[in-house]
Amino acid sequence: MRTHAQAVVIGGGVVGCSVLYHLAKFGWTDAVLLERDELTSGSTWHAAGGMHTINGDPNVAKLQKYTIDLYKEIEELSGQPTSLHLTGGVLLAATEARFDWLKSVVAKGRYLGIDAKIITPERAHELMPLLDPSCFVGALETVVDGHLDPSGTTQAYAKAARKLGASIERFTKVEELIQLPDKTWRVITNKGEIRTPHVVNAGGLWAREIGRMVGREHPVLAMEHMYLITEDMPEVAAINKSTGKEVFHAIDFDGELYLRQERGGMLMGTYEKACKPWSEHETPWSFGHELLQPDIERIAPSLEVGFKHFPAFQNAGIKKIVNGPFTFAPDGNPLIGPVRGLEGYWCACGVMAGFSQGGGVGLALAQWMIHGDPGMDVWAMDVARFGDWASKAYTNAKVRENYARRFSIRFPNEELPAGRPLKTSPIYDRLAAQGAQFGAMAGLEVPLWYAPDGVRDEFSWYRSTDFDTVAAEVRGVRERVGLMETTSFAKYRVGGSAAADWLDRMLTCRLPAPGRMTLAPMLKHDGKLIGDFTLANLGAEGFMIIGSGIAEDYHMRWFQQHLPADGSVSINPLGTDLCGLAIAGPRAREVLAAVTTADLSPSAFRFMDIRRIPVGMASALVGRVSYTGDLGYELWCSPSCQRYIFEVLMKAGALHGIRLFGSRALNALRLEKAYGSWAREYRPIYGPLEAGLGRFVALDKEADFIGKEAARRERESGGRLRLRCFIVDAANADVIGDEPIWRDGKVCGWVTSGGYAHGSKLSVAMGYVPREVADELDGWSIEILGKMQSARLQSTPLFDPEGTRMASALATTGTA
Ligand SMILES: Cc1cc2nc3c(=O)[nH]c(=O)nc-3n(C[C@H](O)[C@H](O)[C@H](O)COP(=O)(O)OP(=O)(O)OC[C@H]3O[C@@H](n4cnc5c(N)ncnc54)[C@H](O)[C@@H]3O)c2cc1C
Repeated sequence: MRTHAQAVVIGGGVVGCSVLYHLAKFGWTDAVLLERDELTSGSTWHAAGGMHTINGDPNVAKLQKYTIDLYKEIEELSGQPTSLHLTGGVLLAATEARFDWLKSVVAKGRYLGIDAKIITPERAHELMPLLDPSCFVGALETVVDGHLDPSGTTQAYAKAARKLGASIERFTKVEELIQLPDKTWRVITNKGEIRTPHVVNAGGLWAREIGRMVGREHPVLAMEHMYLITEDMPEVAAINKSTGKEVFHAIDFDGELYLRQERGGMLMGTYEKACKPWSEHETPWSFGHELLQPDIERIAPSLEVGFKHFPAFQNAGIKKIVNGPFTFAPDGNPLIGPVRGLEGYWCACGVMAGFSQGGGVGLALAQWMIHGDPGMDVWAMDVARFGDWASKAYTNAKVRENYARRFSIRFPNEELPAGRPLKTSPIYDRLAAQGAQFGAMAGLEVPLWYAPDGVRDEFSWYRSTDFDTVAAEVRGVRERVGLMETTSFAKYRVGGSAAADWLDRMLTCRLPAPGRMTLAPMLKHDGKLIGDFTLANLGAEGFMIIGSGIAEDYHMRWFQQHLPADGSVSINPLGTDLCGLAIAGPRAREVLAAVTTADLSPSAFRFMDIRRIPVGMASALVGRVSYTGDLGYELWCSPSCQRYIFEVLMKAGALHGIRLFGSRALNALRLEKAYGSWAREYRPIYGPLEAGLGRFVALDKEADFIGKEAARRERESGGRLRLRCFIVDAANADVIGDEPIWRDGKVCGWVTSGGYAHGSKLSVAMGYVPREVADELDGWSIEILGKMQSARLQSTPLFDPEGTRMASALATTGTA
């Protein structure tokens, strides 16, 4: 065995082999894969081998499309057949709600280049004659759907990788991982040791065990999964004969079933509600090419639906039932990328659909390792989306929920209950008593809206039961004053002698003067956005960065990767150790003035000022800024004071009709100002000019910030896209995100987010369109749930276009 390698991939399942193939393809031919047994000895060998491009997340769908398109390439290079059968498929809806979802999937497919169309149940029956059309209300037909041989496919990746120069060591178990002071790794195996700068955890069923070798508990859990294979069926033979083809694949969402032909019979698998984790705490190293005991009772309810929806099964004999384990992350998406604080340690685990996603995972990871960037938008799959809060017990609860809901609809207003409440702020109970309906953001409970007695969310694609209440919360802010809990924002304290120079290099903006704040985009080397923050200069207290709560680990990883080695800069995420409250609205100043002795007069406490001031008997760091676009203040305090400050603000606010508002009202308010947000408008595939943040990119500042040259090129070329705001003639459903934007009969852009802007009583969509047409006022349509809705460009903010409410130097009323 070699003693050095550019990268060591641990695990010879389909994912590890794909990673190895891509590393070799992009030039790291001295990469080595270590497999403790034969290749495919984890979950790979007993997979059903099904694959499809359709996925609710467009970036995952793109990755799946890449994976399937790749099979020809690896077959040709390796000479190893994957036994790819592209049968085509039908996705079936038994309810109108599911049918609406299918329509939105087809719409997304239009800008992803995924060939899919809506068909009637009768047409679905023509394509897949085993189904009973009377059980369904509609269907989606997809071309790129099929199955392959799991072992053959894994071997094809492996052989292709070997051909390119990479090596594979079978029966070589990694037993220990030790990082040396120079950050390289000692990979200690039962057959000797390899030194390498890069280690990839592609351990599948053993991903947790490999994580534990480096002191991390990765949020993955294996679940038992069953499919049955029937004896040969005469109906299948008849279809093969009459069409000359294999039976179409089918996914029956309401039956929670997937089906495909297997030799002369059929394979039917299910994600049963009564699901069961496997090896909850640790995976035995002795587990190899083994199957688990089938438990037909557990899947009986799904099979019953299956036999009704596909009547030919009633007469078919069951040849065998396969029960095998495979792993999931809490949200069902893969966990890929570098792990914060562990230089050279990479994850490619939690891949629950290795044959739809393995190729794309290998591509993204190899590019990331070699070029420092995945080269595509992998936000939904990034290992950094889970922080330490995603404990083993949390993962267990969430994975069970996710498995049981694998084929269930998740409505845009639906918050899933498992693993909650986990993290709460000190005023959680007070807000709950006011009717707060919570959602979970990175494990923390955040108020979405305040429901009147007896009213709860009715889950829907359409405007729902919260509509009038959210409208009233918005009015409360715009007409008087509203209070919102903001602990979920990410807050980082930056200190050290070189803090200012470091921030100047990390962020594109000019650094604010002491006591001031500024908006602060952060770029990658390719000039695309990797963050959008508010930067505050706290003078002697150092700097504070405020950003998106869901991206805390993601951003910390980037910050840590770029910290100087000499310890001259420190950065600490404050999480729930710093709690937040925000008040906004025309009377916000009067409310705050009533509880502080500080001078809040507009000239003394200007827009974007920040300072520590007394609030009643406590003190808080207060910044004059508001994401609502209104006059507002953000208050940051220790957890021990949050309850007190909340009480004094509510008491003082009572005189002014203060109203609690949640993040749904905040969404409605920010849409009126066309403010973007991280993971929606701002993602690592857009340039700052494209995203409308160009004015915060100080190309003329002295510091050579990361991405400066690329940002200069974007400024010169003008970029490709523009973020725009549209008013949509929507009837009773607003955009959610990812809808196609049409112009001149063609899809030319996509929606990033939107909703109903209650203050303006208009339906708003934000999204990206090509720069060349970005200033056209009319001629736009947006496809919502399969219906074309005309739209027009809104080139100025709907609310307070001059910004006088938020930024004006004029006092609304008195001062402290
Ligand atoms: C019943 C069933 C049906 C399925 N059907 C489908 C389907 O239709 N379509 C689909 O896309 N997916 C399906 N899957 C899921 C699919 O099997 C997985 O997504 C895929 O196998 C994950 O591959 P992997 O490489 O991540 O993990 P694994 O296959 O588990 O591979 C991990 C490898 O790492 C090795 N390893 C671990 N630790 C070490 C160590 N310390 N040293 C050296 N080697 C180590 C293991 O021996 C193993 O070979 C199914 C799974 C099951 C159980």
